[in-house]
Amino acid sequence: MDVLCIEKLCQRSQRPDVLTTGAGVPIGDKLNVMTAGPRGPLLVQDVVFTDEMAHFDRERIPERVVHAKGAGAFGYFEVTHDITRYCKAKVFEHVGKTTPIAVRFSTVAGEAGSADTVRDPRGFAVKFYTDEGNWDLTGNNTPIFFIRDAMLFPSFIHSQKRNPQTHLKDPDMVWDFWSLRPESLHQVSFLFSDRGIPDGHRHMNGYGSHTFKLVNAEGKPVYCKFHYKTNQGIKNLPVEKATQLASTDPDYGIRDLYNAIADGNFPSWTFYIQVMTFEQAENWKWNPFDLTKVWSHKDFPLIPVGRFVLNRNPVNYFTEVEQLAFDPSNMPPGIEPSPDKMLQGRLFSYPDTHRHRLGANYLQLPVNCPFRTRVGNYQRDGPMCLNDNQGGAPNYYPNSFSAPEHQAHFMESKFGVSADVGRYNSADDDNVTQVRTFFTQVLNENERERLCQNMAGHLKDAQLFIQKRMVQNLMAVHSDYGTRVQKLLDKYNAEAKKNAVHVYSRGGASAVAAASKM
Ligand code: NDP
Repeated sequence: MDVLCIEKLCQRSQRPDVLTTGAGVPIGDKLNVMTAGPRGPLLVQDVVFTDEMAHFDRERIPERVVHAKGAGAFGYFEVTHDITRYCKAKVFEHVGKTTPIAVRFSTVAGEAGSADTVRDPRGFAVKFYTDEGNWDLTGNNTPIFFIRDAMLFPSFIHSQKRNPQTHLKDPDMVWDFWSLRPESLHQVSFLFSDRGIPDGHRHMNGYGSHTFKLVNAEGKPVYCKFHYKTNQGIKNLPVEKATQLASTDPDYGIRDLYNAIADGNFPSWTFYIQVMTFEQAENWKWNPFDLTKVWSHKDFPLIPVGRFVLNRNPVNYFTEVEQLAFDPSNMPPGIEPSPDKMLQGRLFSYPDTHRHRLGANYLQLPVNCPFRTRVGNYQRDGPMCLNDNQGGAPNYYPNSFSAPEHQAHFMESKFGVSADVGRYNSADDDNVTQVRTFFTQVLNENERERLCQNMAGHLKDAQLFIQKRMVQNLMAVHSDYGTRVQKLLDKYNAEAKKNAVHVYSRGGASAVAAASKM
C-alpha cells in the first residue's frame, strides 16, 4: 500500500542537529534575549527573538465552526465484496483492492478544548485517497440529522453554541429551536438515547447519512446510503461516568484511539451500502432525500462492501489532523450527489470553509493532496502555493499546446429535472413515524426510560413555554413518550420552584427577551 504523502515529506526532512531560525540560519543562543546591558531593554535587531515570537503569534488557524474537537488516524479500506454492478468508482474496482484512508472523529458543538464525553453527535469523516482523486465521506455516527433544509444549518448550529450575550450554553436556545422544528425529533431522540454518548471513537458506527448516487460502467445510476459498523461492538458511556470523565480526562476519546493504535490494537469497521433504484425512489412513501429519515434495513437491506482499518497515528497533530479537510464535493467518477438538500448545501459550505481556514491552496497540503493521482488543471497561484504551480504548462483552456484535456468518459450521469423553481416548505413532512418506530420497537423498556430521563434532565433547564411545546411534539410521536417526559419535568419544576431558581441561571438573556415576545 502507498504511504501517505505526509510521511514522504517527513522522511525528506531529517531532523537538523543545528538549531536555526525559520529561514534556516544557525542560532548561537536561544535562551537569552539580546539586551543593552544585563538589565537593559531589548534590541529590535534580536531577530532570533522576533522570528520566534512572530511565528508563535500566528500559531492558531481559525477553529472549525463545527466539529472543532477531534481525533484523527490513518489506515486503509479493503474491498471484500464486488459492487461493480452498482458502481464504477475505482475504489471498488475488485475484491482485495486496498485504498489508503484518513479518518477524523469529532464532537460537533464544543470548542477545540472541550470534553470528548459530552452528549453530542460525533463526526466520523473518511477520506479515501483513490486512484481517481480523493473521495470524502463526511459522515456522522448517526444515519440522520436534525434538519432537512440546508437554509436552517447556521441557525441550528448557533442554537447549540453559546448565548451571544452571556457566552453560556443556553438550554432555551437549544430547545427553542428543536421544539420549533419538529423534523429534529428523530435525531434528538437518538441523541438522548444511550448512543448519545459513545465510549470513545472506536465503539460507534458511522454513516454517510446523505443519499448519494452510484453509477456503474454502463452509466446506470442507483441511489445509495453508506454505513460503517464498528467491529469493536457498540459501547456507550453511562451519564455519570461521562460527566466525571469530562473533568478528569476531557481528551478521553483522543487518548483511547491513540493508545489503541499505538498498542497495535487496530480498530476496524465493516462497510455496507443500501441501494434504492430510481423507480423505488419515485414510489417510496417518504422523500428518499430527507436527511431526517433512514431507509429501513428491511426494505433496503445492507449490502456488504468492505472494511476499513485504522493502523497509523498521526505523526503531527496539526499538519495531519487540524489541517485535514473533508469535502463532500470530492467524489470520484461513479459516485455522485443526490438532490438531498442538506448534501447540496454541504457541497458548497465545506470547501468554502476550508478556503477560509486553510487558504485557496489547501488541497496542496500533504494530508489533503490527492497523492494517488496527478492533479492537472488550469488553476494557478494563490497564497501559499506549495508545489511547482504546474511549471510552465499553459494556464488557460482550451489551448493549442498541451494537455490536460477533459475526457468524455468521466462525464457525470445525466438526470432529468422539470419543476417550478421555488422555496418549498418541508417542515410538515412526516416528522414522527420513524421516531415512533424507534421509540416503540428499537429501544427496550430500560432504554426508553433512560431516553426520557436524559431528555427531561436537559429540557428542565429551558423555560416552561418551551418545555410545553417540546412535550407536545413528543406526544405526537407517542403519548407514552410525551407523558413520561412531562412527569419527570413536573418533578424537576416543582423542585426548581421550591429552590426558586432564577431564570438567568438556567437559560440566557436572549431567551428571556424571546419569552417576553410570546
Ligand atoms: P432495524 O431493526 O433493521 O434497524 C434498527 C437499527 O437501530 C439498527 O441499525 C440498530 O443499530 C439501531 N439502533 C439500536 N439502538 C439504537 C439507538 N439507541 N440509537 C440509534 N440507533 C439504534 O429497523 P429499521 O431499519 O426498519 O429501522 C427502524 C428504526 O431504527 C428507524 O426508524 C430508526 O429510528 C432506527 N435506525 C435505523 C437505521 C437504518 O439505517 N435503517 C439505523 C439506525 C437506527 P445496530 O444494528 O448497529 O445495533
